[in-house]
Amino acid sequence: MKKVVLLGSTGSIGTSTIKVAQDLPDHIRLLGLAAGNNAELLLEQTRRFQPEAVSIGDPTRAKELRDALGTAAEVYCGPEGLLKLATLPAADIVLIAIVGTAGLQPALAAIRAGKDIAVASKEILVMAGEIVMGEARKFGVRVLAVDSEHSAIFQCLDGKPSASVRRLWLTASGGPFRNTPKEEFAGITVERALKHPSWVMGTKITIDSATLFNKGLEMIEARWLFDVGMDRVKVVVHPQSVVHSMVEFVDGSILAQLSTPDMCLPIQYALTYPERVFSERVQTDFAKLGNLTFEEPDPDRFPALALARFAGETGGTLPAVLNAANEAAVAAFVQRRITFPQISETVRRTMDRHQCVAHPTLAQILAADAWARSEAAG
Ligand code: NDP
Repeated sequence: MKKVVLLGSTGSIGTSTIKVAQDLPDHIRLLGLAAGNNAELLLEQTRRFQPEAVSIGDPTRAKELRDALGTAAEVYCGPEGLLKLATLPAADIVLIAIVGTAGLQPALAAIRAGKDIAVASKEILVMAGEIVMGEARKFGVRVLAVDSEHSAIFQCLDGKPSASVRRLWLTASGGPFRNTPKEEFAGITVERALKHPSWVMGTKITIDSATLFNKGLEMIEARWLFDVGMDRVKVVVHPQSVVHSMVEFVDGSILAQLSTPDMCLPIQYALTYPERVFSERVQTDFAKLGNLTFEEPDPDRFPALALARFAGETGGTLPAVLNAANEAAVAAFVQRRITFPQISETVRRTMDRHQCVAHPTLAQILAADAWARSEAAG
């Protein structure tokens, strides 16, 4: 039985994790649940799974929860609440599925309390991969991937060292604008960008999948999770999203992990690792799938990949700046203040103006993050 703390229980990854916990009551006990604002859903989840403790962003909502729950669960709030949950003494693993950077401090707290972490929030590794992986080594805990691509790579690697890898191949669906001519990019609406061809996800990651910044962030995430240089992290467009990613070994052999797209599968694998546990949720019918196709990403229409590669190769505070500038630009696009192509232009401009710090401390990373947000918004 794994005792799991779930940060971001009301989101897209969070609710998929709830389904996995429901599927596997003999394997997963939800010990702690945290949400941002959605007190109603958090309350419903708490009544159903009876966690020891819950946390919500807003203190007034925490009071409502306390009134509703009485002594059934401890109720915390704000950033301190996330830290409390991440370090619950009985927890084995903390799954971090909070959008943005709010998951970074709880991730480090969990590691330092000796917990394994399962990372959906790729921002954590993009911003502070060197620190997070260093702390995980120091405290002897696992950093497990929830992103389907990284879960695929983890499964294919199966413990092989990075020296046995020639290249990691991240697959990208290509997003809704894979075949859209460049001339039409300036007219792309928020509604169109939010229609992903193969995955239903939160708003931020769906826009990131349309610009390919999501894949860019994943390249940097892979670099840290699997200890390979950026030159060994490649991207190939695979519109069907059935091959979740591949490892090309030094002898030329390539292993891939496949299934119909469903986030419950990588979530379950992270939470039950190293076991494989029976579940009928994900079924793959090859005859129905028909063709699996692959193509080169277009660097001209999707500059996000080159920007992320440059940030990952440069390292230091630049990946945090890329991430924060992108978050600010996505928010501006969703609020219809900038056009779709201006998302990557904003990120490029912010990166150009940044004075990069090599091997930064956490404080320097957070300062670069704050600087990039105001620079990108200005
Ligand atoms: P959503 O926007 O659907 O959900 C975000 C979750 O975080 C919600 O539960 C939200 O609470 C909570 N939250 C936000 N801010 C805070 C805060 N300050 N304190 C506590 N909780 C907070 O996002 P997704 O589930 O799509 O994505 C989450 C992360 O997982 C992202 O980093 C994304 O890149 C990554 N990811 C997502 C995938 C997907 O399929 N969705 C696939 C792979 C990675 P509330 O709703 O109550 O405000």
